[in-house]
Amino acid sequence: MTVTTRFAPSPTGTLHVGNVRTALHNWLLAKKHGGRFLLRIDDTDTERSREEHVASIKADLEWLGLHWDGEERQSARFDLYEAEFAKLVASGRVYRCYETAQELDLKRKVLLGRGLPPIYDRAALGLTQADHAAKAAAGETPHWRFLLDREAVIEWTDGIRGPQHFDPAKMSDPVVRRADGSWLYLLPSVIDDIAMGVTDVLRGEDHVSNTASQVQMFEALGSKPPRFAHEALLVGTEGKLSKRLGSLGMDHLRDEGIEPEALVALLARLGTSDPVNPELDAAALATAFDLAHFGRAPARFDEAELHRVNAGVVHRLPFARVAHLLPDGMGEAAWDAIRPNVEHIAEAADWWQVVTGPVPAPALSDDDRAFVTAASATLAQTGADWAALTAALKAATGRKGKALFLPLRQALTGRDHGPDMAALLPLIGTDEAARRLTA
Ligand code: GLU
Repeated sequence: MTVTTRFAPSPTGTLHVGNVRTALHNWLLAKKHGGRFLLRIDDTDTERSREEHVASIKADLEWLGLHWDGEERQSARFDLYEAEFAKLVASGRVYRCYETAQELDLKRKVLLGRGLPPIYDRAALGLTQADHAAKAAAGETPHWRFLLDREAVIEWTDGIRGPQHFDPAKMSDPVVRRADGSWLYLLPSVIDDIAMGVTDVLRGEDHVSNTASQVQMFEALGSKPPRFAHEALLVGTEGKLSKRLGSLGMDHLRDEGIEPEALVALLARLGTSDPVNPELDAAALATAFDLAHFGRAPARFDEAELHRVNAGVVHRLPFARVAHLLPDGMGEAAWDAIRPNVEHIAEAADWWQVVTGPVPAPALSDDDRAFVTAASATLAQTGADWAALTAALKAATGRKGKALFLPLRQALTGRDHGPDMAALLPLIGTDEAARRLTA
């Protein structure tokens, strides 16, 4: 059986690091097994779903390189839900209820007051056909609950949390359809997971109790439940799911100069026992991906760590990947010379400016000024060859180390630090270098 995973965002907002992480893990799990990764847009909530969010979710997934092998939209699948729902009506696994929110609230309070778990009392199961007819005549439309099988203990082996047990006698029958006919998340998701052949549901641990009821829904629809895994949620450095983290979108990270490879490399490993490396190859991350390496503690997301991984990634990015982001005229040799010195690709422009000039003339001591001025004559003989130039100057002046290199670097670049001069000098060129030494 091939592995099929899905990422099922609700397009009520844009993606943030938390749901990007879930998407990525589903992608990695599918790729590891040569399987399929599907995108399902959970847009049954027509009020809150927005087309612009669908577009931005897709654009972000593409930016991250998380290409999907198939796509479904829940809003286009209402006929299927209706047909499957009819089967559950026929088998008596869904039933009509009429309690208002206030009535349910009161029932809950009474139970809690008696020290009992606030479970729905199934009062509506006692309604007769005549009762339903009377409700209909009075213009009351029912909402629908899924009838849990209280005899069947709910169990699954969670890919991350291990063996899970739920006693359905301690659970309320979940509402699956509202009185206006609209769907809640639980049932359409199960119908789709069956129809789309999803073998592995990997999502946040906030869904564990949903899974408990969904396990019985799969069975009620004649299907074996998929494998489930629930990952610990992402928290900020301060240890909770901060508002900032929940709203940390891809636009912001792009503006900050974060490369998709960096976010993928970090999020692939966050919350696992595997080390975070600036890995460029997503296929390699997929090969190493293993649910057994996930911990139960919340995964901490630290923006500073993301920037460190980003620097490592930028240092490794080949020219072909960044060429379109570099200033006009900046070629492969320049990128290779400069990339160890930048943490974000945009900073390459500053160093390219150092190469092309003009650069500010540094404040040098009289000695150093005489030295660099004389160096221009040596340069005329050696050409823009740093090793040859510095060897000749060392022999002629007896200068070495910092006294030899620093004044040259200052005169040639206008700065005290920077990329390797052996790579930079040929880019500056002999004529321009001579002008800077004598300036
Ligand atoms: N639309 C649901 C959510 O975003 C999907 C949950 C699931 O993966 O089943 O929470």
